[in-house]
Amino acid sequence: MNRVPAVTYLLIIVAIGYAGAWELIYWDAGHYARWKDSDLPVTYRANESGTPDCGGEFTALEASLDTWTNVTTSYFDFNYGPKTSKKDTKLDGVNLFYWAETQADLPYAGNYIAVNTFWTSGEDMGDWYATVETDICFNGYHYDWSDSGESGKMDVQNIATHETGHALALADLYDVGSKEFTMCGYSSYGETKKRTLEYDDIRGISSAELYGYTGITLEDFEAAAGLDNIEVTWVVSSETGLAGYNLYRALDGEAEYAKLNAALISGESPYYYLDEEFEPGMTYKYLLEAVDIAGGTETFGPDIATAPTGDGRPVLSLAQNSPNPVTNDTSIRFSIPEAGRVSLGVYDLTGRKVITLYDGDANAGEHELEWDLRGDRGVRVAPGVYLYRLMAGGENVVRKMVVR
Ligand SMILES: [Zn+2]
Repeated sequence: MNRVPAVTYLLIIVAIGYAGAWELIYWDAGHYARWKDSDLPVTYRANESGTPDCGGEFTALEASLDTWTNVTTSYFDFNYGPKTSKKDTKLDGVNLFYWAETQADLPYAGNYIAVNTFWTSGEDMGDWYATVETDICFNGYHYDWSDSGESGKMDVQNIATHETGHALALADLYDVGSKEFTMCGYSSYGETKKRTLEYDDIRGISSAELYGYTGITLEDFEAAAGLDNIEVTWVVSSETGLAGYNLYRALDGEAEYAKLNAALISGESPYYYLDEEFEPGMTYKYLLEAVDIAGGTETFGPDIATAPTGDGRPVLSLAQNSPNPVTNDTSIRFSIPEAGRVSLGVYDLTGRKVITLYDGDANAGEHELEWDLRGDRGVRVAPGVYLYRLMAGGENVVRKMVVR
């Protein structure tokens, strides 16, 4: 742990300078500090005493958290947790709001309006360290506080929105071009403009460094005919900041695609879409469109599949195993058009055979095999993606499954 905290103050000073935009809080020359995605949502708790100066401070604190949470182009989430008796700037596992009412209560000397102290894990994440806690102290010793923008007092929501912006990793801005922004490092009595975010504050939290869309990593996108449907599957290894997917289909050879899904497809990888409305025997192409939280899109594909004939004659087909992903055992259905030699094996992604589930003669029509996730030596396979391959009549079909 980096136990020596970094500190950022809000001050009353007259600002002169130029620039703008948004900046990150740097821990050292090479690392800024932000929360790990896996640590979201970040919960803040208010000290139960609040401030003696007004009655709506807790509502104002919660509103300041909501302001950042509600940015639709960022996936960052704050929670407002139950009140606490904690009332100091200390690494104790609680992200805290509190008012210091005496000079001795203030964590640092000075007549700053508020101060946010933060700690990181020191774990090197490349160009950032993971924030593990921040404590926000409002200076009730030097200032009176208000929940309604009263003159001669500091507005709680105004200052809290700024301070919680620091908790996201946004740094103070001290130039003239930034004076309207929530992250402007100066404030004044009665000011409320920091309650609402400006374009550059939103751009900061929505950046790729912080909590915006960072692109998806598509590992696989595949359309394949099942026994009575076409199953479209895709596997992604990262999709942070994604809103969901659209799936489009066109007849092979035609240019015009139609969207198949009504609402955005969301969930978790691997994704499956069963297309059951098609002309039997026709060949279709499928496109996958990823839609990010800012409304941007990225398109993958096409992948092509020929629909089952639907005339009752068995075709060579291999269905998606069920259930998939697999945790204990799974069943694999396939059909073959003619009686003959059939082989079905499971392979890892390097092509090494894990087990032969069947190798012998089979009748025309549908068949089903069970797999209990054990390899040839009777040992359960490791979690991951596996291939299974059906060979029959000189042809073969390969599909994927996910073992958890
Ligand atoms: Zn500040």
